[in-house]
This record gives sequence, structure tokens and C-alpha cells, in this order.
Amino acid sequence: MAIKQLIKRTSGWLYLNSSVGRNQLHGAGVILMLHRVLANDRAANLPHRNELCVGPQAFEHLLMWLRKHFDCVPLMELLQPNALRTERPQVALTFDDGWRDNAVHAYPLLQKHQVPASVFLSTDFIGSRQRFWWESVGETLWGSHGDKARMHLIEYLRITGHPLPVLLDDIDVDRRSLALLHYLQGLKSLDPQELERLTDECPPESLPQALDWHQVRAMEASGLVRFGPHGASHAILTGLDDVRLHEEISRSRDALHNGCNRPLPVYCYPNGDNDQRVREQVANHDYPFALGTATGLYRGAGDPLNLPRFGVSQRTARNPELLSLRIFRGARP
Ligand SMILES: [Zn+2]
Repeated sequence: MAIKQLIKRTSGWLYLNSSVGRNQLHGAGVILMLHRVLANDRAANLPHRNELCVGPQAFEHLLMWLRKHFDCVPLMELLQPNALRTERPQVALTFDDGWRDNAVHAYPLLQKHQVPASVFLSTDFIGSRQRFWWESVGETLWGSHGDKARMHLIEYLRITGHPLPVLLDDIDVDRRSLALLHYLQGLKSLDPQELERLTDECPPESLPQALDWHQVRAMEASGLVRFGPHGASHAILTGLDDVRLHEEISRSRDALHNGCNRPLPVYCYPNGDNDQRVREQVANHDYPFALGTATGLYRGAGDPLNLPRFGVSQRTARNPELLSLRIFRGARP
């Protein structure tokens, strides 16, 4: 292990076990943000997946660590203004997008360790075969769907005048994955229609990527998982005009009301992007709370329509002391 990481892990451990750390966390809530839980940890370790994916072993390690140091509570309990704060800090888990693997890989571990979670659905994807461009383009270029599919997409990129991915033939797996990560980050600036066209050039997966409503209701019925909206189409809300913004928020709200018994009164902004206009619209659609992606502890103060969260990557799930160091830094006044 690199010395730097060892120092970070040790500092994180010290923080959790020191009176400074305990005082700072007293009465505070931590909201964690996750996306996917894959079938194996090796796949999640790769740089182009590491930020949004965790493996089952790392996820279980994180759950056990959280249970040791925090009270794992449902999100709404953490957000209660007069919640009886216990001696230990509270943590609430949130998952963005509504990936099918949340039901297949995350849910059994949540049940095993009795850790509640909230899942935020991009509702157009639920029960449909619509795909997230990042995943489809990334995995096609990675070769997960075969060489023919990869060559087809590269040819399409070439004839449409897009920059081409480099280093895809590098023998070093990590270097190849990192190059792909940078390439995908570069594509983010393309307009949504173009990204959709790229996604259309990727082969259809045999299984849908998103949850279906049957899975949503089964998880909800357990009492351990609740659901809220994360946009309908996952469009970035700050980029929409007033009419489309209203349409996007109400479509996702209606889908949740039709598909769930007890949808959360919490909105979750795609990519965390929000501004005053977006927050007002979300409030006008009867959402008293909304989740952003700025880091920080929840203490009941601050804007309830831009709640802070700490993102969890495969790296931090494997080494939760790194997460406690980030919490410590985020907690500083
Ligand atoms: Zn998202």
C-alpha cells in the first residue's frame, strides 16, 4: 500500500476514535451516495468503474464498518428536525439512478446486515430497456460486448468526426481503464441527442440495466428500502427551460406515485446540479427535501433543498477509513 494511503487511513481511523472526531460527529448525520453494486470486486476496481461501482465484498465491508461506528437509519429518520439524536452519529444510505444490480447485489446484503437505504429512480428507465449512455458507450468501448461491437462503435465515432479513444489496446489493464475514464469524461460535453445516438450504436444488452417496478415494490414491501425520484430522463435540470423542468419533475413524481406505495418526499438532482430556479420548482412540486452532491454533514441547518452527501467509490468502500477522513474534512467549519 502506498505510504500516502496508509497515512490517510490511519488519520481516518484516529479521527473516528478521537474525542475531536466524536465531538464533531455528535448529533450529526451523514448521507452516503452510491450508484451500482456489481457482481464482483475485480470489475469494480477498474478506474473507469471505480467511482460509480462497488463490488459485493467491498460493499459488505462498508456495511459492517458503518454498523460498528454509526446508527444506520432510514433517510427520513435522519432528516427529522427533532429526531432524538443518539450518542453515535447517524448514517443514511442513498443509491442514485435505479440500477438493476441494486436489487440483485445490494439488497441481499442490506437485508443481511439490516441496513436501510433509499433508492432514487430516473423513472423513464424503470421497467424499460432505455440505457444510460455512460454505461453503454463505456462498456462497449471496453469490449464487454465483444470486439465486433467495439469496432462498430469506433467506426461510428470516426465517421461522425468525434475524437477517438486512445490506448484501448494498451496491455496494462489499469492504464487502459484510466484512458477510457478520461475519454468518457470528455464525451460529457456532447449534447444529449448526440449521446443518445452513440448509445444507439451500442448493442442491446440481454438484460435491462434498470430496475423494474416489480423489483421496486418487492424491495419497498420489505420496509428496508424506500424510493424517490432522480429525474425522469436523467436530464440535467439546470439546463432545462421552465416548461421542460416542470414536465421532468412532474413526470418523475407521477411515476413514483403510481409505482410505489410510499414514495419519499425527497428529490434527488441528476448529477447533483441545482440552482435557485430548480430548487423553487422542486419545492413547488411538494418536495420539502432534495439531495445534491456537495459534501458536508447534515445538522438540520442549511438548505433542505440542497442536502450534502458523501460519495462512496470502490476505493472508499474497501477502505472506509478514507471515507471517515473525507467526512472529517467535510465537517470542518
Ligand atoms: Zn444519476
